[in-house]
Amino acid sequence: MSELLDRYESVLLKIKEACHQHGREEKDVQLIAVSKLHSIDAIIEVASFGQKHFGENYVQEALEKISLRPDLTWHAIGPIQSKKAKDIVGKFKIIQSLSTDSLASSLSKRLLADQVLENQTQDILIQVNIGKEAQKSGVMPEDLISFACMLTKYPQLNICGLMCLPPFDIEPEKTRQYFEQMRILREKLECELGQSLPHLSMGMSGDFPSAIAEGASMIRIGTDIFGTRK
Ligand SMILES: *Cc1c(COP(=O)(O)O)cnc(C)c1O
Repeated sequence: MSELLDRYESVLLKIKEACHQHGREEKDVQLIAVSKLHSIDAIIEVASFGQKHFGENYVQEALEKISLRPDLTWHAIGPIQSKKAKDIVGKFKIIQSLSTDSLASSLSKRLLADQVLENQTQDILIQVNIGKEAQKSGVMPEDLISFACMLTKYPQLNICGLMCLPPFDIEPEKTRQYFEQMRILREKLECELGQSLPHLSMGMSGDFPSAIAEGASMIRIGTDIFGTRK
C-alpha cells in the first residue's frame, strides 16, 4: 500500500471516530486536503482515492495546479492581496480567507465586470483572528458583526460561514475553547444577518477532533495526509 493511501485512510478513520464520539454525521464534515507546497503528482494520487476538495494558500501555485486539474474542487485558504482578485474570481469554490474590505471590494468589482452568467457570485468565508494574534490575518472577533454587515453591500459575495486558524497549543482542550468561541460567533452572526451560515471551517492536522466536537463543517488537513512540507 502506498504511503499516501495509508495516511489518507488513517485520517478518514480518525474523522469517523471523532464523528461517532461527538454525535456528528460524517457527511456533515467535509475534508479539505491542504496541498500547499506539495506536488501535483501527490494531489493526483490523493484525488485517485476519491478526495475531491483541496485547499491552497498561495495564489500563483494554486492557479498552476487548478489549470492542471480544473475538475477538482479548490478552496483558497491563505492571505490574498486585493490586486490578485482579478486572477482568482471563479477559480475557487470558496475563498475561505476573506478578511479585508479591499479584497471584498476588488472581488465584487471583478465579478460585476466579468459577468457572463446572470447572478454570478463567489462563495466566501470570513476569516476570524480568534486568538487575536498579531502575526495572523482575520477579522477580530469583536469586529466580526460590523465587518459582515458591511459585506452585505456586495451582493456578489455570498457569505457561507467562518474560518479560523487558532493559536497553536499542545493541549487540545485549550484549542477547543477557540473552536467553541467560533461556534458561538457563528450563531450570533446568523441572528444578526438573518440568514443561515452553513460553514465553520476549522481544525487542522493537530486538532481536528476537537473542531469536529464544536461543529466544524470543514476540516483542513495537510500534514496528516501529505506528510511534512518542505
Ligand atoms: C497549512 C494550513 C492548513 C493545514 O495544516 P496542517 O497542520 O498541515 O494540517 C490548514 N489551514 C490553513 C489556513 C493552512 O495554512
